[in-house]
Amino acid sequence: MQRPNVHIQIFEKSDKLLSKVKISGGGRCNVTNHCLENSELIKNYPRGRKELVQVFAQFSVEQTIAWFLQNGVTLVTEEDGRMFPKSNNSDTMVQCFLNLAKKHNISILTKCEVFAIQKHQHFILKTSQGVFEADALICAAGGHHKSGAYDWIKNLGHKIDAPIPSLFTFNLPHSNIKKELQGISVANAKVSVQKTKFNYEGPVLITHWGLSGPAVLKLSAFAAKEFNDLNYLATILVNWVHPFTIEETEAELKKIQAAKHKASPFSNPAFHLPKRLWDFLCEQADIDKQKPWAEISLKHIRKLALLLQQSEYKMEGKTTFKEEFVTCGGVNLKEVDFKTMQSKIIPKLYFCGEVLNIDGITGGFNFQNAWSTAWVAAKSIHLNN
Ligand SMILES: Cc1cc2nc3c(=O)[nH]c(=O)nc-3n(C[C@H](O)[C@H](O)[C@H](O)COP(=O)(O)OP(=O)(O)OC[C@H]3O[C@@H](n4cnc5c(N)ncnc54)[C@H](O)[C@@H]3O)c2cc1C
Repeated sequence: MQRPNVHIQIFEKSDKLLSKVKISGGGRCNVTNHCLENSELIKNYPRGRKELVQVFAQFSVEQTIAWFLQNGVTLVTEEDGRMFPKSNNSDTMVQCFLNLAKKHNISILTKCEVFAIQKHQHFILKTSQGVFEADALICAAGGHHKSGAYDWIKNLGHKIDAPIPSLFTFNLPHSNIKKELQGISVANAKVSVQKTKFNYEGPVLITHWGLSGPAVLKLSAFAAKEFNDLNYLATILVNWVHPFTIEETEAELKKIQAAKHKASPFSNPAFHLPKRLWDFLCEQADIDKQKPWAEISLKHIRKLALLLQQSEYKMEGKTTFKEEFVTCGGVNLKEVDFKTMQSKIIPKLYFCGEVLNIDGITGGFNFQNAWSTAWVAAKSIHLNN
């Protein structure tokens, strides 16, 4: 409920509002994820997991779904848990917010960049359209890949954790898989970074520049800092037959050998792998195309098992979508009270969304962070001012 004597003003530096909502989810807007247990939900955040416990306790996924419904947007769930507006069009989301802004007489200034903020008795905002005063302020400036973009927040006394990209795909410029296998996907592979503890499972896609797909994006998010430290040069291991272990893979290959001894290994892909990938790995294992299974030596079977289990790919660089898909880094979380989203340094200054050092994996989790932190900040301002 908005108080009649309260005036809300939005400052937007670009010429349009909600541009990320508009382009999100390929124009469909993946609003949230049907993950209703908060203890499960927080597992999707490489950064901010502990802090979000307090936030989601106040505004959960269930409350988000109900909030959108109350405001005219029905959300539907896809098989993998991702939720979209029933219209399948992000314009529905944009329109919902614009209608609410109109209903509550919220003023919107576009092409109005906030350059500096000073706190005296009130906040003084220096913007590209002049100076404004405010009693309370929510900073919802989003993520940015350049640390200079946070200077105006830093100048208020807040610590900024250096921004680096999260959610990127792996470039393999010197691997022949991108040339020979692009377009292939494996439903449940496991990807890991050699000599680290990081490994994630899920669909993996081979693209014309390297490796992509949900498991790769998840690994990029959880190991974002480590990849940055390695300057995006790393050895990636892929288990194409996850959850099989090396022993199980070898045993399975021997079983196939016994059952199909007259057939060529090339004729029948095992483990439900795409034929092109199976043939490629058989070739890499130096298996003779002319020979039947019966004549394949144990040495070659072991080599194939190892390739199925632990193919090595040299990552040299990353690819992000439309600049950085999501930013790892931002306002340091220790300086924010997550019961209210209020700054611990400057009273009546609130933060929400990606400007904080919080980011999620793909699947609607980044917007859920934005909705929940925004709701808590708005409620706190309503109660405290
Ligand atoms: C291509 C793409 C697709 C995505 N798809 C999804 C998806 O489907 N689901 C999902 O959960 N997440 C998705 N994300 C991530 C999601 O869009 C962001 O996490 C989310 O938009 C963050 O919301 P926010 O309000 O914190 O920041 P933003 O949406 O970035 O909004 C911040 C706004 O503040 C303005 N601003 C910044 N600085 C200033 C200043 N100094 N003065 C005035 N204005 C300023 C910016 O211009 C911007 O409009 C996607 C991201 C990208 C890039």
